[in-house]
Amino acid sequence: MVCKVCGEKAQVELRARGFALCKAHYLDWFVKETERAIRRHRMLQPGERVLVAVSGGKDSLALWDVLHRLGYQAVGLHLQLGIGAYSERSLEVTQAFARERGLELLVVDLRQAYGFGVPELAQLSGRVACSACGLSKRYVINQVAVEGGFRVVATGHNLDDEAAVLFGNLLNPQEDALTRQGPVLPERPGLAARVKPFYRFSEREVLSYTLLRGIRYLHEECPNAKGAKSLLYKEALNLVEREMPGAKLRFLEGFLDRIQPRLQAAEEVQLRECERCGYPTTGAVCSFCRMWDAVYRRAKKRRLLPEEAEFHPLAPVARLG
Ligand SMILES: [Zn+2]
Ligand SMILES: [Zn+2]
Repeated sequence: MVCKVCGEKAQVELRARGFALCKAHYLDWFVKETERAIRRHRMLQPGERVLVAVSGGKDSLALWDVLHRLGYQAVGLHLQLGIGAYSERSLEVTQAFARERGLELLVVDLRQAYGFGVPELAQLSGRVACSACGLSKRYVINQVAVEGGFRVVATGHNLDDEAAVLFGNLLNPQEDALTRQGPVLPERPGLAARVKPFYRFSEREVLSYTLLRGIRYLHEECPNAKGAKSLLYKEALNLVEREMPGAKLRFLEGFLDRIQPRLQAAEEVQLRECERCGYPTTGAVCSFCRMWDAVYRRAKKRRLLPEEAEFHPLAPVARLG
């Protein structure tokens, strides 16, 4: 197996794409392919300031690296979720990455900002941990973007992530979830644009980039992820991919190009301002504020919070790195 570009011994075989590359040409190819995805979907303007949501995992750190190399003003945002040692190590790895490259890192500590981290939220919100966590991430990341004057947020979601979400949404069909999924979600009042420059890369391709670049990332998965449905969906799709290279990409792109536009032709959802925080929602009070109201009610009942404690929707941001 040899590199398609230089004919030297190949380091990465891209079966789904029908070629292989050596280290140097793989690193080149990966960055250029990201640039192509960004241009094709008009995700970012050249040199634009972009908020990169970084967990400390391989995908988000690779994304931060590539966006920085492509000349974007990429500022990192790390959300401290309070999930024990896992969250501590996530922050450490992310901070080390920022420090070594002289990149700006913003940090929001969920427990400091709102009183409770994900473990307590799972007890108090009536939601399971991953649901409360996902809701918190989406909300706080958008809030920091809007308050910080960022037009756009980039996340490290890869092909496996996106294909698994699509697969899940087809197994439990919900039309609005199918309509909303995509590599670019345009900005709206109170909502920063959201882009996923890695959505065409398989998890393995991103990992190869991260390893070949020598990026130090947190290997361990979130302890709450064990048994998550998304892992089952990924396993099923990878089973197909093994026998049919390229199946995952055809699945996702076929949906985005040919099926989703017809769903979107139906009426667009109207957004209004949350009565509590002013951020976009389809109801009167947004699901983030409703979650925290429920958490505070239960926490007071269990005497985990004083009676006079009040939930404030705006999270303080610390500047590190
Ligand atoms: Zn080569
Ligand atoms: Zn709200």
